[in-house]
Amino acid sequence: MLDFSIANIIDFLFPRFCPVCGKKVEYREVICESCLNAFEGPLTGTFSFRPPLDGVYHFWWYEDVVERVIKIYKYSDRPSLARVLAIWIDRTLRYYSLNLPITYVATTPGAFKERGFDTMKMIGDKLKKMGYTVLETLTAKDVPSQAGLNRSERLKNVRGKFQLLKHVKLPRELIIMDDVYTTGATLEECARLLKSCGVRRVIGVTVARTGAPES
Ligand SMILES: [Zn+2]
Repeated sequence: MLDFSIANIIDFLFPRFCPVCGKKVEYREVICESCLNAFEGPLTGTFSFRPPLDGVYHFWWYEDVVERVIKIYKYSDRPSLARVLAIWIDRTLRYYSLNLPITYVATTPGAFKERGFDTMKMIGDKLKKMGYTVLETLTAKDVPSQAGLNRSERLKNVRGKFQLLKHVKLPRELIIMDDVYTTGATLEECARLLKSCGVRRVIGVTVARTGAPES
């Protein structure tokens, strides 16, 4: 029997395709089911991190579908992928029962101009819709790119990059969220600032972590 529901008509007139694998996706879906569920995240096990962070959690390694979604989201003008990244963060938070307010790494003016949207804020907005407490706490200024820098160079490069927004009331404990954990320098700098402003415990949560073990 033909189904003339609005969803089906829209789907017929404007077919959508998974930006990762090219398969046709259903109305309202951002990527296909098999890409969304390509990995059974979050990553389990212990991951190295340094103070002032009090812990780190990641949905998956920065590889394959996860890496492609993040790259398409950030560099190919696909803000709708924020929903996918929020789903993966949500799965991580649920798995580890992390029930703390969430804040996120602030986007620099340069990155905002280049991408046309605030990548982390948009993921935060999706999480807010899922019922999480999401706080905007930080601003960032432009610093030279972190690409190609080693850990100590990265730490030096991000020092002073972030400032606390005016009139922010900080909770005692916070999750700081980012897309990719590379050396941890960015999250550590955010945690340092937040702790200097009175936060006692800062947990890092990212969609991905670089350095997957050889498979
Ligand atoms: Zn797909």
